[in-house]
Amino acid sequence: MLQQGGRDAAVRKLTDIVDFTEITPDAAIAADRHGGRAKCLQRLVRIDLPVPRTVALSFEAVHRIALGQMPDAEALLAVFGAAPLVSVRPSSADPDWGGPASILNIGMNDARHAALCKTHGAAAANALYLRFIQAYAIHVARLDPDLFESEDYSAEAVAAALAAYAEETEEPFPQDPVRQLLEVLRSMARAWEGTTARLLRQAKGAPAEAGLGLVVQQMALGLGPEESGSGVIQFVDGVTGQRRITGRYLGQSQGRDAVSRQKQALFLTRDPRGPALEDRCPELFARLKRYGDTCRINLCEEMQIEFTIEAGRLWVLDAVRVQRSARSAVRIAVMLADEGIIAREEALARIEPRAVSELLHSQVDPTGRRQVIAQGIAASPGAAVGRLVFGSAAAQASAARGEPCILVRRETTPEDIRGMHVAAGVMTERGGMTSHAAVIARGLGVPCVVGVSDMRLNRRDGVLITADGRKLHEGDIVTLDGTNGQALLGEAKMLPPALDDAFHALMGWAEAACDIGIRANADTPADAETARRFGADGIGLCRTEHMFFEHDRLTVMHEMIFAAGPEDRGTVLERLLPMQRGDFIRLFEIMQGLPVCIRLFDPPLHEFLPQSREGIRELAEALGLPVSDVTRRIQALSEFNPMLGMRGVRLGIAVPEIYDMQARAIFEATIEASRKGWPIVPEIMIPLVSAMREVELVKTRIDSLAAAVRTERGADFAYRLGVMVETPRAALRAGDIAQHAAFLSFGTNDLTQMTYGLSRDDAGRFMGSYVKQGVFAEDPFHVLDTEGVGELLSIGADRGRLARPEIVLSICGEHGGNADSIAFCREAGFDYVSCSPFRVPVARLAAAQLALGAALRPKHGRY
Ligand code: PEP
Ligand code: MG
Repeated sequence: MLQQGGRDAAVRKLTDIVDFTEITPDAAIAADRHGGRAKCLQRLVRIDLPVPRTVALSFEAVHRIALGQMPDAEALLAVFGAAPLVSVRPSSADPDWGGPASILNIGMNDARHAALCKTHGAAAANALYLRFIQAYAIHVARLDPDLFESEDYSAEAVAAALAAYAEETEEPFPQDPVRQLLEVLRSMARAWEGTTARLLRQAKGAPAEAGLGLVVQQMALGLGPEESGSGVIQFVDGVTGQRRITGRYLGQSQGRDAVSRQKQALFLTRDPRGPALEDRCPELFARLKRYGDTCRINLCEEMQIEFTIEAGRLWVLDAVRVQRSARSAVRIAVMLADEGIIAREEALARIEPRAVSELLHSQVDPTGRRQVIAQGIAASPGAAVGRLVFGSAAAQASAARGEPCILVRRETTPEDIRGMHVAAGVMTERGGMTSHAAVIARGLGVPCVVGVSDMRLNRRDGVLITADGRKLHEGDIVTLDGTNGQALLGEAKMLPPALDDAFHALMGWAEAACDIGIRANADTPADAETARRFGADGIGLCRTEHMFFEHDRLTVMHEMIFAAGPEDRGTVLERLLPMQRGDFIRLFEIMQGLPVCIRLFDPPLHEFLPQSREGIRELAEALGLPVSDVTRRIQALSEFNPMLGMRGVRLGIAVPEIYDMQARAIFEATIEASRKGWPIVPEIMIPLVSAMREVELVKTRIDSLAAAVRTERGADFAYRLGVMVETPRAALRAGDIAQHAAFLSFGTNDLTQMTYGLSRDDAGRFMGSYVKQGVFAEDPFHVLDTEGVGELLSIGADRGRLARPEIVLSICGEHGGNADSIAFCREAGFDYVSCSPFRVPVARLAAAQLALGAALRPKHGRY
């Protein structure tokens, strides 16, 4: 009764006149007119899969239906022969945009029910009729679902459902299949055009005018004598991407009623509840596997196949792209490329760059249960389980016991670095994408959630109060999900990182395609090693101040800050010199052959000083000074707005001994490294510049220091001095600044902060609400504001190039790891971007996709 192809002339004529098209191999079906499902069904028909007869209604037709202009439903039903049962399913351009629920078994009525009772048994007939009444009542007549929900498939239940329908609508359940179909089409078309549905799909990226197609398909019932049933099958694992057959099959053998079949889920793979389809019907199972191969080869995709078996005959109702995690997507794309089914470029195009970062870290298993207790900004991806600790000392104690911990702070300061180093995850009440906690955590590759504004940390009582009033104590176990910006109660099911062969293969292909450099922001040997492992082209920003937070150095830093004058300070800095030199030698060793850009000291000095009474007392003890002296010095260094105060080059000019020491350490390390066989031309970068004279002053000192070191050591070396453009004025005056700079690196964290006049540490408080209300399209600390900050970048780049055509241009703010921001930099002709080591693969893939350009859009539609 279900025949594909071979339409008779009368039907062809009818289908030509009205607005629907039977899906045949040659029919004019297009994804952008009929939707992805209709197009996919045509592909299945073309590769000879046994698809029941299907008709497609275009976006235009469905739109007209929504406006009340109905198709000739009688003619439409006639395509399927006499007294058919049909289904109607949505077919939008992208299946992810959703759509109204499918309605099955249209055509069921009292007469059909009676006939089916005779041929298939009462239970099966009851089940079919009842399911149709339920679907029709809920989705078409929009009646209360509670009135129709029933697990009972008896004749009485059917009668009760019909009575409930009649009572609610004051008319009997429609018996005419033509009317049933018309009403179904109308309700689905209108549901798509409703405001809620529109908003929901727009949230998933659908354009405002996205259309809905519909497919009407002859039912292949999965009922009857011999083996019958329905199911889905797929050939790869949606979480891991490994080849593995999974699925579900509800079989109904002759003699068993349709009710009990619900409970007999016979799985395709071996299952203790009953014999698998594989064993019961090896031939059918082998055919399904062949269909999977045929789909993979012809549709160039791993598909999940929906099928029914009707009295031993196999039907393919539909096929959809296998739902997949990021790691599974990478493995599938690489497997398809390795098998020659798709080109490598296409494999690259199929992976969302952001998704790559999921592979680099442990993740919460999406199939597990999650009880969310806090929600904030997803500042550093990955997930970790640990015991709550509310301070750095507790974090270190926990690490010493070998217990992973999640460090929770109101916000972090440089004092917390040691705690962050040992914590498995970090969560803060305040902060945004470029706050201290966020930047450090991304650098360390530690999961981090910031700006959890509705939680309250009460350190005195040692409790964390969540938005719903739950009280958590130090020692309680939580899971921090930095990918989704959540904290979960207890230990969630986890997936390990997936830095497997598929990941490395994809990265290799990306590197070959990339036409802009991708460097890493790396401050420590561990960061540099990560950067190398992820294929960075060098270090684009080494924030040297981070080297001073190690315990032994912090004490020396304190002595330096408390030094009586330049001479004293010089003596203390001499003790820091060998430590810094050692740091740089180690970096040069790890990065052998690759460029390393070292930024001179940037933060205000007070960041190195304790704030708590206890910390001040300890410092006084260590320095042998009265507490009052220490307090006075701290007060003297405090500023109303330290981020705009004495930091960066301003500090470098006011206290030049610090930069002198650093430059000497860099030069001596350069000589040492080349002696060891790792020649390098170090890049030295001056932070927070706003005027050319600042650069001149620093350059003069550094040049003379270089000359001194050359003479002292009897060795020659080269170096390059550059400027970090992170104040609007530096961007505007890039022309004069470039005269003294071999490179300009745009520090877009500070530049965004200063362009907007928006504190990067406080933005988290209202950023969510700003983005929600459309004040900012995106968090500008996360995605480069191409209009405002971007204009400053363009002005800076143009003026810099005009003054010095060979000048090297880059960005090193957090935006360097964001795909949209990379696109901007590429367009502007920048030489490289630099981002946290863990974002290097994301940036690499994004840049490769940009380089491959429009030609690379996935060639095969989404199913
Ligand atoms: C910047 O401001 O963009 C930058 C990279 O420097 P930091 O984040 O250390 O201020
Ligand atoms: Mg900065």
